[in-house]
Amino acid sequence: MKPPEHGMVSARARERMIREQLQNQGIHDPRVLAVMRETLRHLFVDEALASRAYGDENLPIGEGQTLSQPYTVARMSQALQLTGREEVLEIGTGSGYQTAILAKLCHKVYTIERLPTLADSARKRLRRLGFHNVVCRQGDGTLGWPEERLFDRIIVTAGTPVTPESLVRQLAPGGLLVAPEGGRTAQNLICVMRLADGSLQRETLEPCCFVPLIGAQGWKEEFT
Ligand code: SAH
Repeated sequence: MKPPEHGMVSARARERMIREQLQNQGIHDPRVLAVMRETLRHLFVDEALASRAYGDENLPIGEGQTLSQPYTVARMSQALQLTGREEVLEIGTGSGYQTAILAKLCHKVYTIERLPTLADSARKRLRRLGFHNVVCRQGDGTLGWPEERLFDRIIVTAGTPVTPESLVRQLAPGGLLVAPEGGRTAQNLICVMRLADGSLQRETLEPCCFVPLIGAQGWKEEFT
C-alpha cells in the first residue's frame, strides 16, 4: 500500500490540532481557527521536525529560540481581537509562523527580529509563501518600531520583565498590546488596552512560557 501523501497527513494533523489543542482549550474566534487550520505550520520548522509540527509542543527554530506551541499562538492571536483592518507590530519574528497567522487576520504586519540569521530566513520564507502585507526588520524590538508611528495592535512573542515603555508609547487609542511578562523562564500573558482618552488598562490572562526578550528595555544578553 502506498503511504498517504504528506499533504493529507498534515491536513488530518491540523484538524486534530484545531479540535484537541484549540477548541477544547477555549479558542473560539472563528477567524483564528480558520487561519490556523489552513496555515502549514510544518513549513516554518526544519524538515526533520515536520512530523511534530502539529503537536502540542514548542519547537526549536535554531539559535536557541523556539516556536511556541499552537495553543499559545492561537491564544495571543485571539486576545488581539483582529477584524482584518488593523496594523500590527510584532516583536520576535522567529520562524515567522505567528507573523503569517497575523498577516492573514489583519491589514498589515510590521515585525522585528533581533537575530540576523532568523530575521533573514523568516523574511525569505514569508516572501516565498506569498505574504505581501508583512514588513520585516532586524533589530532590537524593545526600542519599538524605529519610525515614529502608532499601531492598532502590538504583540511581543518573547518574555520580558516589564513591557518596554517604547512599545506602550506606540499603541494607538483603542489599541491592544499582548505580551508575556514575568521571570526569565515563566511569565504571565498580559493584555494592555489604550482607551480612547489615552489612559491604559491592564489585564492578566494566563501563565505562559517564552524565551527571553533581550535588548535595551528587556533582559541583558549576558545572562542567557
Ligand atoms: N513568534 C515566533 C517565535 C518567537 S521566539 C515564531 O512564531 O516562530 C522569540 C523570538 O524573539 C526569538 O526569535 C528571539 O530572537 C526574538 N527576540 C528576542 N529579543 C528580541 C528583541 N529585543 N527584538 C526582537 N526580537 C527579539
